[in-house]
Amino acid sequence: MAGRPIVTYGDPVLREVSKPVEEITTEVKDLLADLKAALQKANGLGLSAVQLGVLLRIFIVDLSVVDITAEQKVFINPEIMETAGSSEFEEGCLSFPGIFQRLTRPERVKVKALDENGNEFVMEAEGVAARAILHENDHLEGVLFIDHFSALGRALADRKLKRLTKSV
Ligand SMILES: [Zn+2]
Repeated sequence: MAGRPIVTYGDPVLREVSKPVEEITTEVKDLLADLKAALQKANGLGLSAVQLGVLLRIFIVDLSVVDITAEQKVFINPEIMETAGSSEFEEGCLSFPGIFQRLTRPERVKVKALDENGNEFVMEAEGVAARAILHENDHLEGVLFIDHFSALGRALADRKLKRLTKSV
């Protein structure tokens, strides 16, 4: 199944909680290929399976947009082990085209996950990488970045959000 489109705000699937991956099946590998292709095409930093309409605990992060030495990294059944610090930075989401807002998130994160071969790894990340991991991990719980907006930020984005919902 190639070329699954990225779902946008207003699609109720984005509020669902994703299920753990039991086994790295052919379907999971196909999904990973679709995630990588969709993320590359959209020129984004991260994408979760739910954004392609699949409720599995998988996301990928690709910092090559900001760091040419970075490679796409797959996270399956991720668990946030620790967070530390705090930083404010502008954030967007491929399911919310045209909406960007400064958000406060932890500066550092320690995460445990499986790679695309099912091998467990532990990774420590900071800055943009930590932000991307935390943003994508939220998607697995049905949490969206607008949930972190301040009341004022939400009010300012309201018209754009309404327009997005209508386009679904
Ligand atoms: Zn997102």
